[in-house]
Amino acid sequence: MMLVAKETSWQRQLSDLITDPAELLSILNLSPGDYPVPDDILATFPLKVPRAFVSRMRPGDPLDPLLRQVLPIMEEGDDTPGFTIDPLSEADFNPQAGILHKYQGRILVLAAPHCAIHCRYCFRRHFPYDENIPGRAHWEESLKWLADRPDIREVIYSGGDPLAANDRHLAWLTKRISEIPHIRRLRIHTRTPVVIPARVNESLLTWLNDCQLQKVMVVHINHAQEIDAEVAQALQKLRNANVTLLNQSVLLKGINDNVDALEALSESLSAAGVLPYYLHMLDRVQGVAHFNVSDDRAFALMDKLKARLPGFLVPSLVREEPGETSKTRLI
Ligand SMILES: *Cc1c(COP(=O)(O)O)cnc(C)c1O
Ligand code: SF4
Repeated sequence: MMLVAKETSWQRQLSDLITDPAELLSILNLSPGDYPVPDDILATFPLKVPRAFVSRMRPGDPLDPLLRQVLPIMEEGDDTPGFTIDPLSEADFNPQAGILHKYQGRILVLAAPHCAIHCRYCFRRHFPYDENIPGRAHWEESLKWLADRPDIREVIYSGGDPLAANDRHLAWLTKRISEIPHIRRLRIHTRTPVVIPARVNESLLTWLNDCQLQKVMVVHINHAQEIDAEVAQALQKLRNANVTLLNQSVLLKGINDNVDALEALSESLSAAGVLPYYLHMLDRVQGVAHFNVSDDRAFALMDKLKARLPGFLVPSLVREEPGETSKTRLI
């Protein structure tokens, strides 16, 4: 019974997201009239944020680093040269519906078309998800394709956010993937345990525990304030299920582009048993230029961060270059 109750809980949270900027602003004691939101942008990439994430925002602070990640602002309408619709040319790497093959030995499986949150800086904000929602028959085809590719050792669940999918589907897919002899590792790139920690429930932990592949989860936390007690507890449960936890962040102007914020993030991750993995330079997608941090500034920040932290708490500064078969490490 317990299991059923928890199951409804994250799904209920997912169906009760805040999508109205006025509601979000009012909850935070901010006056909606002061923060105009462009209608056309709301129509193409709506506001979407779980209440559990909003509960970690500071009321009355329009510059709150969590609020800034989700609130659409007028600057998203700016057309900045060099910021395009598909900056990573992902449309070129789509061999099967639901699969992206852009890294050697690794395959990205688009396990769910949507996310529990809309991050305003997202590089997939213009991705044609609708053409990438395969049904069972399609998955069978993709599994066959995978079985014929002995060079692929790692399957990466991506999306959207793979943990926005239900556990019945994920348990089925994971079992089928585990049966392919050349697959050694399962990696899950997800933000859901951070934005809705109740997602880490018994049914998720059951299929993770049942999976005999090496398991790695890359969570996606940009600011220390995102980790509250409930998130820390969810992360602990994942570690107990033998999941190695790594974090990737995006370097975002006005959110984490100062050395104190980056240091606090690494320390909080470490306390939660998560190792900082990547710090991404922003992908140059249309509508996100206001988050951009210059290379020089990023390098200077990394120098200061290295002076303050042990090496294992310093993430690699990376950039995704179109057409490259791996990320480019800048530092
Ligand atoms: C970079 C990246 C990968 C693969 O890169 P690694 O260098 O193998 O970690 C997979 N998924 C996502 C979402 C990424 O950003
Ligand atoms: S969770 Fe990831 S994929 Fe989803 S909107 Fe945020 S950055 Fe984009």
